Amino acid sequence: MAIAITPEMLVLIDRADPLHDPVGRQFVPSAAETEVSADELADPIGDEARSPVKGIVHRYPDRVLLKPIHVCPVYCRFCFRREKVGPGGEALSVAELDTALAYIRAHPEIWEVILTGGDPLMLAPRRLGELIAALDAIPHVAVVRIHSRVPVVDPGRVTAELLAAIKPRRASLWLGIHCNHARELTPEARSALALLADSGIPLMGQTVLLHGVNDDVETLEQLMRALVTARVKPYYLHHPDLVRGTGHFRVTIEEGQALMKALRGRLSGLAQPTYVLDVPGGHGKVPIGPAYLGDDPGAITVEDAFGETHPYPG
Ligand SMILES: *Cc1c(COP(=O)(O)O)cnc(C)c1O
Ligand code: SF4
Repeated sequence: MAIAITPEMLVLIDRADPLHDPVGRQFVPSAAETEVSADELADPIGDEARSPVKGIVHRYPDRVLLKPIHVCPVYCRFCFRREKVGPGGEALSVAELDTALAYIRAHPEIWEVILTGGDPLMLAPRRLGELIAALDAIPHVAVVRIHSRVPVVDPGRVTAELLAAIKPRRASLWLGIHCNHARELTPEARSALALLADSGIPLMGQTVLLHGVNDDVETLEQLMRALVTARVKPYYLHHPDLVRGTGHFRVTIEEGQALMKALRGRLSGLAQPTYVLDVPGGHGKVPIGPAYLGDDPGAITVEDAFGETHPYPG
């Protein structure tokens, strides 16, 4: 897997012990990556099985992923597409992109197009603008969503040209920001997010729950507060996928549920993400957060955010 760390992230890392640093651990390769367990998969979320044409993944009727590019500003060691991303992984050719756009045009049930990759904001602003304009010209596409790590890890790319390329048009544009630790939200990253929010783009946050990075309640609380303060609504907290060589990042679902329960009592509802699992094999994402209702159908009980149980009539 390719290695890349932007200068903005590099200065945050404790050089003496990068693998025990919450930022360093995400980007610095570790010998633990050579340990592959039998449960781990080359295509952990089953993208291949749901790809009708190159660059498109169509798993849910109303939305598709479109992956125009495979490069990223940083390479995350836990990446669920770690076997696909990197400088060697080619971008879609002009002809392949045309075929992908033709697929979207031919499927009126596609309400939303999610640009992912790789990192779509690594495209030259002119090319990105052309792509968004092409999607905007498809009447049934109501929403274009972009998933990116650029505003946080490489904020200098958020320029006037980039803002012009992604400015809101007929279709609504939403931007998902991948961020795993409050320390990543440097003053430069906050400024880039402010530029995006000020230009009218709704921002949502995506975080991967990672052992040694953010698997404790204080760290998650700080991150979610920092995101909301930067006008980024926490959307998903992803349970780590069964990616080959990433066992050292994995937590159990029980641990994830306990963290979500702890956040519920102490953190504004605005700052609560939904804890989700991408079901291995291409079956999509489902919430796997803790349950608050007791399981006795005859006597409904509900647990409050502070751990006390109460009866509920009916
Ligand atoms: C994650 C994902 C989506 C988006 O799912 P949401 O729950 O709408 O965020 C869409 N298609 C595929 C193939 C995905 O993996
Ligand atoms: S930025 Fe996203 S696609 Fe790129 S390596 Fe990180 S997780 Fe993977």
